[in-house]
Amino acid sequence: MEMMTRIGIYPGSFDPLTLGHLDIIERSLHVVDELIIAVSNNDKKNHMFDADSRVKLIHETINLLNEDSKKRITVEKFDHLLVDYTKSKNSNIIIRGLRAVSDFEYEFLMTGMNRTIDKDVETIFLMSSEKYHFISSRFIKEIHRLGGDISKSVPKPVLDFLKKI
Ligand code: ADP
Repeated sequence: MEMMTRIGIYPGSFDPLTLGHLDIIERSLHVVDELIIAVSNNDKKNHMFDADSRVKLIHETINLLNEDSKKRITVEKFDHLLVDYTKSKNSNIIIRGLRAVSDFEYEFLMTGMNRTIDKDVETIFLMSSEKYHFISSRFIKEIHRLGGDISKSVPKPVLDFLKKI
């Protein structure tokens, strides 16, 4: 029997990438053969980092993973409708991460909306390790702005980048 390559799309702002995101990325590789990290390039969201910097930091972090993982991951910017983008990549799997109950409502609504647009695209939710449950890009930015220590919450390339700005 011919095996099909399962391609998953992990969309997000990644503003910036955190160890929580990285945990979801590594877990995704247990579920899909290839993972496309899709960095949203939506001007309506007020991002701290431009899309190119967000992509670059993900690349630098992925580069620290083992060879097999590196081979299976690509990083791209996207500004299309997510389900259209997913289809255009020959995928029907969207990966999202869940932390607390508070993530649930937003993710539930988004999955439902996406399903009304295209019923063939499935969203898979992965739970990060409990040590990353409290990490969010939003708080990282705030703590960093106030001079707090974020070294336990972001990958080294992100930490180095934040130290410079
Ligand atoms: P978005 O703006 O699309 O929500 P984010 O970069 O904030 O983009 O998050 C992308 C995805 O990663 C979301 O599904 C979010 O719930 C998940 N995520 C973010 N941080 C964590 C974490 N610490 N643990 C698990 N999932 C997370």
